[in-house]
Amino acid sequence: MIIQLEHKITVADKAKIYAALETIGYKTTEVKTQKGNYLVCIGKNEFDIRLIGSLPGVEDVHRVSDAYKLVSRKWKTTDSSIDLGDGVTIGDGNFALMAGPCSIESEEQVEKIVAHLLENNIKIMRGGVFKPRSSPYAFRGMGIDGLKMFHKVCRANGIKIITEVMQVSQISEMHDYVDVFQVGARNSQNFNLLDELGKVDKAVLIKRGMSGTIDELLQSAEYIFSNGNEKLMLCERGIRSYETAYRNTFDINAIPILKEKTHLPVIADPSHGIGIREHVPLIALAAMIAGADGVIYEVHEKPEEATSDGQQTLNFMESEMLVKKFKVQSLKV
Ligand code: PEP
Ligand code: MN
Repeated sequence: MIIQLEHKITVADKAKIYAALETIGYKTTEVKTQKGNYLVCIGKNEFDIRLIGSLPGVEDVHRVSDAYKLVSRKWKTTDSSIDLGDGVTIGDGNFALMAGPCSIESEEQVEKIVAHLLENNIKIMRGGVFKPRSSPYAFRGMGIDGLKMFHKVCRANGIKIITEVMQVSQISEMHDYVDVFQVGARNSQNFNLLDELGKVDKAVLIKRGMSGTIDELLQSAEYIFSNGNEKLMLCERGIRSYETAYRNTFDINAIPILKEKTHLPVIADPSHGIGIREHVPLIALAAMIAGADGVIYEVHEKPEEATSDGQQTLNFMESEMLVKKFKVQSLKV
């Protein structure tokens, strides 16, 4: 059960609600986010929900029996959106594009990609500075100095930044230089990291794990929300299957299913989803048609020279064509 408290609830009224919950034998966790103040209550005993709903200080109350609750559409039926400021909004009818290289490589590279984004009216740039790589000998990112440079160039051009955070200790050093923290597929169930990202007032995009179920992704999102951060979106980036003809199996089904189960924005990552440049635009468009609230994809001036994921990265011309197709498609939907 979720109880939403009134903004100006008195201490005495809150105590009465807690007393009522104790009487029915429910365990309660209080959650304060940027937008609301909730009590998440867990218990099995039968009771008349009107007894809670009629208490002073209660704004709304609803039974949600799934393992995830605050992120559930059973609790909030309307689409949520994330406001990154300066008119950049994701979700609830605002289809968002996020594009950029797999890895941030140099100031010159960032400047060229920023120019490409500006020409195509893309407001959010992706790019990793802390890179999870299968091989320890591969390029592992420019680190915090790279992020500061990335931030400087983007800020000068009014572009927002999304970049991956890999561990708890990086959150504070990255905090002032990011607009959206990305949780990568490999960290989708790093619960300590999720707990801490729930305590910051910055948007978070959490990717589905390589072998993660939709239910597990929603429970991971619940970790962040229940720690107080509801500026949250989910990302389908392909799962690992028996198929070897492409890098990952982009689970198109996940888009409508997630949209049904959660009110949070759902983003598609076709670059990692299929891993083959030629097919990224089609998968991106398919995700839009399936109901995604946005697409994050990899773009580079010279993909063949990229330090990571060049094989799935669009060049500027391919990216421009994709943006045009998104526009045409959005008029049809
Ligand atoms: C990335 O976005 O470059 C990345 C490493 O993604 P994922 O966590 O989906 O593999
Ligand atoms: Mn990548």
